[in-house]
Amino acid sequence: MSEADPTQADRTWQDRFGDSMMRTLATPLALLVRGEGCYVWDDQGTKYLDFLAGIAVNALGHAHPAMVAAVSEQVATLVHVSNYFATPPQLELAERLKRLTGAGESGRVYFCNSGAEANEAAFKLARLNVNGRGRTRILALHDSFHGRTMGALALTGKPQMREPFEPVPGGVEHIDTTIEALEAAIDGTVAALFLEPLKGEAGVLELPDGFLRRARELCTEHGVLLILDEIQTGIGRTGTWFAYEQDGILPDAVTLAKGMGGGVPIGALVTFGAASDLFTRGQHGSTYGGNPLVTATANAVLGVIEDDGLVANAARRGSELREIIARFDSPLIAEVRGRGLLLGIGLTEPVALRLAAAALSHGLIVNAANELSIRLAPPLIVGDAELAEFERRFGLALASI
Ligand SMILES: *Cc1c(COP(=O)(O)O)cnc(C)c1O
Repeated sequence: MSEADPTQADRTWQDRFGDSMMRTLATPLALLVRGEGCYVWDDQGTKYLDFLAGIAVNALGHAHPAMVAAVSEQVATLVHVSNYFATPPQLELAERLKRLTGAGESGRVYFCNSGAEANEAAFKLARLNVNGRGRTRILALHDSFHGRTMGALALTGKPQMREPFEPVPGGVEHIDTTIEALEAAIDGTVAALFLEPLKGEAGVLELPDGFLRRARELCTEHGVLLILDEIQTGIGRTGTWFAYEQDGILPDAVTLAKGMGGGVPIGALVTFGAASDLFTRGQHGSTYGGNPLVTATANAVLGVIEDDGLVANAARRGSELREIIARFDSPLIAEVRGRGLLLGIGLTEPVALRLAAAALSHGLIVNAANELSIRLAPPLIVGDAELAEFERRFGLALASI
């Protein structure tokens, strides 16, 4: 077995990170070496309660036995074959996603390796919705986040992220998140409307009441694809399998990633009804997409979520977490936003970074989504003991600010 480079042994990990990793990343908060359940440990042996879960990814927490078994078994059976061949885990996952999303018989699934790639596929799908009249407009929301690749970046409603990389693919218009703006912008020249049911990266912001239902009506009326980005909100996180269920609607397409793989890199585009007929042979693909290693793992993750009732647990623990936050009765807390186990704590002062750092020093990982918002996204397996620990540790952090 090869050893780590001995000339690096007496240098700090921060220096090694700064000298070797691309400058796109800020210096990380700690060097993590292992995890179990809702906890992770750093290289010094410090134990942290993980209420970020790799940004809503580790649905089953860390080192879940079902995931360990699925990865181990599949890696010893068949890891990768290319899309010239089908594999049983790939078919099982596609069928499962059709059932869980409500896409049903006419649904179709495309597998890729990340959220951004799922949105790239959805962007290409939108381009095919020409309806014989050459629709090129795509609507997305200000403050939305859809990923960092060029197409996903074009959809993302944060100008400071896009501007250094322009020109990005054209045709995308960002609108205000109001029903009036939606009604004014949408007509028969629009190919697709991209939405996050809750804006996670923006600090867990809810859409206005009735927005999603009105979007569904307008899209149907004008032949516009309603494409929901449930990369962060999907897979049980908001207390239902998908957030759109809470509005009683179905989209024309949904993009998934994050929680679906529980930590292995996988994304998917699921189409509904007539949208399933838009892509034709050869129009899109991915070498790794849907390989047996990641699809077997995702099947295990989704299987545990179903068998252990973790969607209901997300709803129940989300309410309990809200009650805990209300009990803090802190002048720093203005409001709590979000649903299930995707919550944003709105602050009265721009101290989110300091508060997250204080939490870390008390052994708790939370995320400063921006200076006025703390984002909580614990694993879906979170229970009484972890909620009690959260209350104690976050209370200490609040008191120290
Ligand atoms: C994380 C995220 C993405 C991008 O996913 P990656 O896997 O990082 O490419 C896109 N949309 C939303 C809503 C996300 O939360």
